[in-house]
Amino acid sequence: MAKTKKFKTEVQHLLDLMIHSLYSNKDIFLRELIANAADAIDKARFQSLTEKEVAREWNIRLEVNKDQKYLKVIDNGIGMTADEVVDNIGTIAKSGTKAFLKAMEEQKDAANLPELIGQFGVGFYSSFMVAEKVELLTRKAGTANAVQWTSTGKDNYSIEEAEKEDQGTEVTVYLKEDAKAYLEDWKISEIVRKYSDFIEYPIILPTVKTNDDKTETVEDKVLNSRQAIWLKKPEDITEEEHNSFFAHLSHHGGKPLKSINLSAEGTTEFKALLYIPEKAPFNLFMPEFQKKGLQLYIRRVFITDECKDLVPDYLRFIKGVVDSSDLPLNVSREILQDNPLIVKIQKNVVRKVLSELKEMMEKEPEKYRQFFVEFGKILKEGVHTDYANQEKIKGLVMFQTMNNEPGKLVSLKEYVDAMPPSQKDIYYITGESRAVLENSPVLEFFKSKGFDVLFMTDPIDEWIMQSMTQFDKKHFKSAAKGEIDVDADSKKEMEKVITEAKEKHKELVAVLQQELSDQVKEVRFTSRLTDSACCLVGDENGLSAHMERLFKAMNQDVPENKRILELNPKHPLIASLQNIFEADKKDARIKDYAGLLYDQALLTEGSPIPDPATFSKRVADLMVSALK
Ligand code: ADP
Ligand code: MG
Repeated sequence: MAKTKKFKTEVQHLLDLMIHSLYSNKDIFLRELIANAADAIDKARFQSLTEKEVAREWNIRLEVNKDQKYLKVIDNGIGMTADEVVDNIGTIAKSGTKAFLKAMEEQKDAANLPELIGQFGVGFYSSFMVAEKVELLTRKAGTANAVQWTSTGKDNYSIEEAEKEDQGTEVTVYLKEDAKAYLEDWKISEIVRKYSDFIEYPIILPTVKTNDDKTETVEDKVLNSRQAIWLKKPEDITEEEHNSFFAHLSHHGGKPLKSINLSAEGTTEFKALLYIPEKAPFNLFMPEFQKKGLQLYIRRVFITDECKDLVPDYLRFIKGVVDSSDLPLNVSREILQDNPLIVKIQKNVVRKVLSELKEMMEKEPEKYRQFFVEFGKILKEGVHTDYANQEKIKGLVMFQTMNNEPGKLVSLKEYVDAMPPSQKDIYYITGESRAVLENSPVLEFFKSKGFDVLFMTDPIDEWIMQSMTQFDKKHFKSAAKGEIDVDADSKKEMEKVITEAKEKHKELVAVLQQELSDQVKEVRFTSRLTDSACCLVGDENGLSAHMERLFKAMNQDVPENKRILELNPKHPLIASLQNIFEADKKDARIKDYAGLLYDQALLTEGSPIPDPATFSKRVADLMVSALK
């Protein structure tokens, strides 16, 4: 008996979009259905390694009926139980589809929607771009019962028990009036060759053939060439082949920025075809994305795409295939964990990818920049997590810097090469954004010296700096922490100014420190500042203000960590304060000014001020007295 069920709202949302889609490349619905058929056969074939009764002569058949206006995609793969149909087809399980919906919601401009459909593989539901009605008849391998699922894509679907001779799935797409082109052999062949040529199972279309004696017979025609593209010679692979294979692997469409062929012989034998995508997928930082890694094949048999150990996390943006000839075919997914062969493959893959990136950086800097903007955040994790390759990865990371225009990325080597002789260390500053950092008063000293400062604006930067102690024998130093090390002459000069100021303003500084004892650890003079009156700096070992804000944003307790208020001895404000102080050591304004100095230091570094009401009252009072 047929049961009618409602789609989950998110599915409804997607279906509406598909039904009303104006997307011009509707051809992709067939690519998606064939991809599902091939996935289902992959799974069945894997199962058949241990359960012989599941083995078949694997193929994907297409069937056209011009009277009833349908196109059928038939596989003899794994099939689905009734529950699986409800789970897989009635809800959105797929990560790519979820990300697609999210992107769609954020995309207020409807004109860009068609673009999005093309960028994402939207799977099974894309058939509703061309279908009036879709039927799916399926029988799970190893079971006797079949189910039929039917929907017009409106708001519900029906599901009922059915008969089916063999295992696998048949999807019947009843075509809309304006989609009848998909009943034509030439159209179908064209799409298959374009998008699914490398699928290793034959994609068969029964085709009418006119014989010499004018009689007609129907013959099976295999539409795809079935060549495993990763086994071809690199120079024989066309750009078009790369693009369609990449789209197949990525599940999100898009194009590769670079393809990497790897052929290892000797102790470990394997071939790999890897891609660096042009664009980061929307779900790059979502856990479900991280589950899928490279596809592992053993002598052309698909084993899994969830073998995480093939690439380290920090290269998880790489897509591709590894085909090994050493692993046994009946390998179980458990055995793959901590497998020494897999570890060897990983080492090879890492070495190759890092060297290709280095080459790209040197020979195609613009392309490398594009790569780094998309995936640099992830690659950087390697500095902290892959100790063995740390030096290589350090050579690949890039940052914006104070002395370069916004958006320009500079490698550590470029930074070091541009250092003036008097500069000893590599300086960096961490913060939310370039805009905030640029105004930081702690940079004034570096500007005056002609030193450059690396801007570290990714949350991950602070984390990797724990491992990045030096580059090219030069130490990394936070521009906002501790003391600055410069050449002997400048040092002497700076020390002189500070000693004098200390002497002159001794009492004043003591009073300021007293007033601010809840907020800061110390008030002292600095040679760091040229324009601003004051700034806050961390202890050599303390958390930076940026890190503190990050911790707080994550609702983590931040250890009580008072910072140091540094004053610019040359700033006229200090002299004026001194005057008031000398005139009357108990002048009530001194308390207000101390508070203002502190708040100002917070504001310039982009931190919130604890008591904005008091702050504005003090500013207002100040204005009144100035305007009098
Ligand atoms: P994806 O293939 O990316 O998972 P789809 O929307 O294409 O997303 O398919 C959703 C799910 O439906 C698949 O993950 C699979 O479990 C199931 N499915 C779709 N087509 C088939 C098929 N021909 N045979 C078996 N299962 C299928
Ligand atoms: Mg799919």
